[in-house]
Amino acid sequence: MPLYTTQPLKIYNSLSGEKENFNPIHEGNVGMYVCGPTVYSNVHLGNVRTFMSFDVIFRYFLHLDYKVRYVRNITDVGHIVDDVDEGEDKIAKKARLEQLEPMEVVQRYTVDFHDILKSFNFLPPSIEPTATGHIIEQIEIIKKIIDTGIGYKANGSVYFDVVKYNETNNYGVLSGRNIEDMLANTRDLDGQSDKRNPQDFALWKKAEPEHIMRWPSPWSDGFPGWHLECTAMSTKYLGNHFDIHGGGMDLKFPHHECEIAQNEACTGQSPVNYWMHANMLTLNGKKMAKSTGNNILPGEILSGDNNILSKAFSASVTRFFMLQAHYRSILDFSDDAIVAAEKGYKRLMEAVDALPVISAGATSSIDIASWKQLCYDAMNDDFNTPILIAQLFEAVRYINLLKEGKETITAEDLATFATAINAFVFDVLGLSDEKAADSNNDKLEGVVNMLIGMRNQARADKNFALSDQIRDQLIALGIQLKDGKDGTTFSV
Ligand code: AMP
Ligand code: ZN
Repeated sequence: MPLYTTQPLKIYNSLSGEKENFNPIHEGNVGMYVCGPTVYSNVHLGNVRTFMSFDVIFRYFLHLDYKVRYVRNITDVGHIVDDVDEGEDKIAKKARLEQLEPMEVVQRYTVDFHDILKSFNFLPPSIEPTATGHIIEQIEIIKKIIDTGIGYKANGSVYFDVVKYNETNNYGVLSGRNIEDMLANTRDLDGQSDKRNPQDFALWKKAEPEHIMRWPSPWSDGFPGWHLECTAMSTKYLGNHFDIHGGGMDLKFPHHECEIAQNEACTGQSPVNYWMHANMLTLNGKKMAKSTGNNILPGEILSGDNNILSKAFSASVTRFFMLQAHYRSILDFSDDAIVAAEKGYKRLMEAVDALPVISAGATSSIDIASWKQLCYDAMNDDFNTPILIAQLFEAVRYINLLKEGKETITAEDLATFATAINAFVFDVLGLSDEKAADSNNDKLEGVVNMLIGMRNQARADKNFALSDQIRDQLIALGIQLKDGKDGTTFSV
């Protein structure tokens, strides 16, 4: 029986403002779309936090035996500086400043994004589509919105008429805003713009002659508006109506609000059952952001090369630090907080490493089944990782008592206990046991040094066939020997 049948899950839905029972559209399947990065610079730790929140959510669905299609896009066109409609594309701007082809910018920062996520032990999404790879789909959606009368053409661009849309729908349904207030609080267009109303947003923008990112369309050579790509890619891979859409809290308005409007206008239905928003990582009490420079890069944490932290911290410690907060809470990054997280992480891993030395007895004095259910209860309550971690520290306490012989456990309970701890620590939270990895590295070093010794002996015996064979076979395994005046060293 799949685990999800016995572990009912509640998700906080930003649309209703309430925790709701999770009922997928297709039993046993989850379709989840998460807005990915705009690849015009290195991801900072704030971005990593949002993607990590959804990595854990993805992992927990998998743990519950759901079949998950997780789509996380790459924004490689259409995101204008300052998130507005007029101005320069973030990627085109970077390309101009660095004298690169825009796709060189995209490639560089997509590779960086993947490297960072890998170092933090993220699972790859099922599909990672790009906005530039879906221009045709975006043009088709614009045509449909124009056909409904809600999209209008102006000087080669196409805009979405929010006021007209609001006559039959509710623009502001997600963010709780109301169109009259929005209009009252924005300056008049004064004939400065092609838009009918200041709140209208671009579906297609005509490219100025100097704009290098451009595609042909029925309206002009131009480029799609930022909100459109996510409508195109989510519905292409998950259907017009899917389970979960996520992103950082700052995307709720206007990005996600506009996505809902585009879908409603195009298909007549609201696209998403559960809207999920991850809260911000702050530094010095202010949102980490690329634009303000108030941020720290993941690489700067791992290397210790920064002026915020007292030393370097590992990816697992950083991950543990972030998961100690619930994904909907603001989290402030500081040296004290990550130092404390490192202590906690080490204590947890020491206990996990001690599991194999615990011996079973005839009876159990600890109620393992209840403890395990409390771990599930935490995650079933809108993915509450801090409560799960608190339960894992309860397990650390049990392990220490068992080691001291102050509690007892049967073989069957011990197996259940160890399986559950490993599942929650490694599969669900995605932590890695760095000591175990270090110990494997020590073993590798020992084996290679032994082979270096054998190669030295073969050379002394003038058995060059053997010494070359050792060197070549190590190269084939990706291990390079370097002979120097102080002896032979190696690199992997
Ligand atoms: P961007 O590359 O700017 O489109 O952002 C990628 C993701 O990171 C989006 O989901 C943002 O909401 C999220 N994000 C940006 N800044 C922060 C932050 N300080 N803390 C958490 N998430 C953030
Ligand atoms: Zn998006």
